[in-house]
Amino acid sequence: MLITTAPKNCLTCNKLIRGRTDKKFCDDYCRNTYNNQQNAAGNNTIRNINYALRKNRRILESLLPEHEKMIKVNVEKLSQEGFVFKYYTHAYCNSRGRFYYFCYDHGYLVLEKNWYLIVKSSIRLKL
Ligand SMILES: [Zn+2]
Repeated sequence: MLITTAPKNCLTCNKLIRGRTDKKFCDDYCRNTYNNQQNAAGNNTIRNINYALRKNRRILESLLPEHEKMIKVNVEKLSQEGFVFKYYTHAYCNSRGRFYYFCYDHGYLVLEKNWYLIVKSSIRLKL
């Protein structure tokens, strides 16, 4: 039986693959190398996001004075500290439909015009 499909190259070393046309790698070594690289890339992404989340939490914690339940800060203050808004661990919607975004046990509520209310999670918020 003659199968005429375009020749394929190994995803790792780019050599032409012989044999079955559904193969993606020339051998086990190339397949393992490829999978290890994919895992390393995924682990890097996870590490970077975890770092950003912990940093966000540290920033919120540092801005909230001890023994205070909340404090109002503006966006410049958060940005200066290196806060990354796209990363948060979870969100909480209160009874008035307002969203709090949390990085672990510290969070913020978006107020009007570039102001944020930083809070520490409590049992009251039922997180
Ligand atoms: Zn190969």
